[in-house]
Amino acid sequence: MTERIQTAIVTGGAAGIGWDIALRLLADGYRVIAADLVPGRTAEQPDVLWRELDVTDHAAVSRVFDGIAEEFGGLDVLVNNAGIQRHRAIEDLTWTEWSAVVNVNLNGVFACLQAAGRHMLPAGGGRIVNISSVSARGSAGRAPYSTTKAAVIGLTSTAGAEWAARGVRVNAVAPGYVDTGVFRQGIEAGTLSLDTILERIPAKRLAQASEVAAAVSFLVSDQASYMNGQTLYVDGGFMVDYGIPLAKKPE
Ligand code: NAD
Repeated sequence: MTERIQTAIVTGGAAGIGWDIALRLLADGYRVIAADLVPGRTAEQPDVLWRELDVTDHAAVSRVFDGIAEEFGGLDVLVNNAGIQRHRAIEDLTWTEWSAVVNVNLNGVFACLQAAGRHMLPAGGGRIVNISSVSARGSAGRAPYSTTKAAVIGLTSTAGAEWAARGVRVNAVAPGYVDTGVFRQGIEAGTLSLDTILERIPAKRLAQASEVAAAVSFLVSDQASYMNGQTLYVDGGFMVDYGIPLAKKPE
């Protein structure tokens, strides 16, 4: 009997970090579907399938996930990666900006997690990884982003606890600053300062998207079979250093 190829959905998997996650899961042997607004980079690697999806559309999420599960005989892995940012001071944020981020980064994650769970629970197993961020601990100028990324950690631990006995593992990866096109645009636009960021990162370098993908690959593998509800920080030590160096080297 030939073994069924496991199916993995990566939301926002057509570009940025999601693209590296899609390629990594493909190399790990999964059938990979990038569920994204746009086909993005999927033309570069036809083995990564694209399904058009706006994660903020709850009905569309169910329809697309049901279709994928039916077409490929089940759904084994979901990576909730689609996410957006709006940089603005709290007092200047518009309701539209706040709502846009909450809709993608929180409501979208919930819709996809619920739709995936509805397939994985009756099947008796599955793995979900939600992409949070070091911004979850609070980050000036990023109120909706930080708030939603913190909420994703809460949803991860709750779903991890709720579904553990039924074989569905839910964990999160919280990346630090990742060297992506969007990040480079922020540097060029002057919203981000590379020097200031590097000063705050103990490893003194940005993360590569492949390093985030490696953590996702681990969490969805059997190597992580007893991990549930956890958030794994891939941040070069950012979260464990509060960032005020000694004035001189200790004696
Ligand atoms: P990106 O903007 O490069 O790519 C995001 C992808 O998501 C795009 O392909 C986009 O089309 C898709 N997308 C956006 N809205 C969508 C929607 N409504 N429905 C479906 N797809 C949608 O972003 P990135 O930098 O690769 O970030 C990926 C994830 O990693 C996000 O959740 C982000 O918050 C998180 N993250 C990024 C960094 C970083 O430094 N880049 C750091 C920490 C966490």
